[in-house]
Amino acid sequence: MKELESKIYQYLKDRDWDNLRPSDLAKSIMIEGAELLELFQWENFSLAKVKSNKEKLEEIKGELADVLIYAIEMSVLLGMDTKKVIYDKLLHVEKKYPVSLVKNKKHDVKSASNYYRIKKEYRKKGL
Ligand SMILES: [Mg+2]
Repeated sequence: MKELESKIYQYLKDRDWDNLRPSDLAKSIMIEGAELLELFQWENFSLAKVKSNKEKLEEIKGELADVLIYAIEMSVLLGMDTKKVIYDKLLHVEKKYPVSLVKNKKHDVKSASNYYRIKKEYRKKGL
């Protein structure tokens, strides 16, 4: 991760983009996220169906890279350790959604209510 962070920092520095405002990076992350979402507009294909569509996968790869690069740019310019940021959040989410509460639950409307119930109960604990 450090090598990737260094490469991204150098990419920014070479272009005099190493002083971008965090708000502009946050906007860019969301704009690219919207471009990623647009690839699924009017579609709701399964994971297997999307994985079998090479053209769609290439489009997703491009937009996903845009999101990830902007996110890492923000992390790097704010002096964060990107790997630690991700690991810390994973630990938090693992506590919030323990395997015992979510494993073997279908991902449908009914399970969405289960998700919100778990989330609401977690927030009540003030964690
Ligand atoms: Mg894009």
